[in-house]
Amino acid sequence: MTNLFSIAYKPLKNRNIKAICTLFLTSSRAATGFINKSQPPMSTAKYAKFDVAQFSCLDDNYGYLIHDPVTGDTAAVDTPDAKTYQSELDKRGWKLTHILNTHHHWDHTGGNLELKRGGALVYGATADADRLPGLDVALAPNDKMKFGNSEGHIIDVGGHTNGHIAFYFPENDCVFVGDALFSLGCGKMFEGTPSQFWGSLKRLRALPDETTIYCAHEYTTGNAKFAMSVEPGNPDLVSRNEEILAKRSRGEPTVPSLMKEEKATNPFLRGDVSEEIRKNVGATDSDSFDVVFGKIRRAKDTFRG
Ligand code: ZN
Ligand code: FE
Repeated sequence: MTNLFSIAYKPLKNRNIKAICTLFLTSSRAATGFINKSQPPMSTAKYAKFDVAQFSCLDDNYGYLIHDPVTGDTAAVDTPDAKTYQSELDKRGWKLTHILNTHHHWDHTGGNLELKRGGALVYGATADADRLPGLDVALAPNDKMKFGNSEGHIIDVGGHTNGHIAFYFPENDCVFVGDALFSLGCGKMFEGTPSQFWGSLKRLRALPDETTIYCAHEYTTGNAKFAMSVEPGNPDLVSRNEEILAKRSRGEPTVPSLMKEEKATNPFLRGDVSEEIRKNVGATDSDSFDVVFGKIRRAKDTFRG
């Protein structure tokens, strides 16, 4: 059988550390909310590419730095650990200009105050303005923000927390999703409702297949066990599971992934397409897909693989 993911993973090998894309920007609406500082003006720029540095933080978080080599702008995506971020910055000679917070949890914002001492601005959700340390620029869903010569689109991905946002860079074909979506999983529903979370995941699922998904944790092995328990008859999942096990046994990250593979294998994106999953989580024909999602989430919460 042709393995869908051997194709999907090829570009990732090169893109894991360095995501390079070109884009042409048009003007766009800048972020609407300003806490106490102004966002730099939107550029009318022409060409942008940024690099993505991915590294481990804390126990199982991934840290990300993105760097525009033309303007020198450098963003931390979340700040699990200031020390690790600072040493990754120093190693590359990059100076932090932006901190992009996906949500308020400490393992995403704990390093904000220390890292912003050098002058970086903290960007995060308006809805979480009172619980994002050092927030400078408040962003609402569908806002756009400037990073170097790129443009980040703010997607509401509430559910894990209410104010959770994702930063999507369309011309760079990538999205930073925090704890909303994981490789083969999604975040625990700490604050939101099933219909809110399912709506968020559908917004992410609507992104192009070739979108690279940078999530915040290496949870994939556990996620894969659960996925295999609810959809063992999905051949794409079976082969992805094998690849994941092989990667982890070599100590390699399973993050990032591509939207194409998540759509084909992530049970939390498949409640409306897989009869097998619905059956295995006890959903009935009369359940709405919001309810189906809630049942999948609950099944995972109580899963003992
Ligand atoms: Zn979280
Ligand atoms: Fe987290």
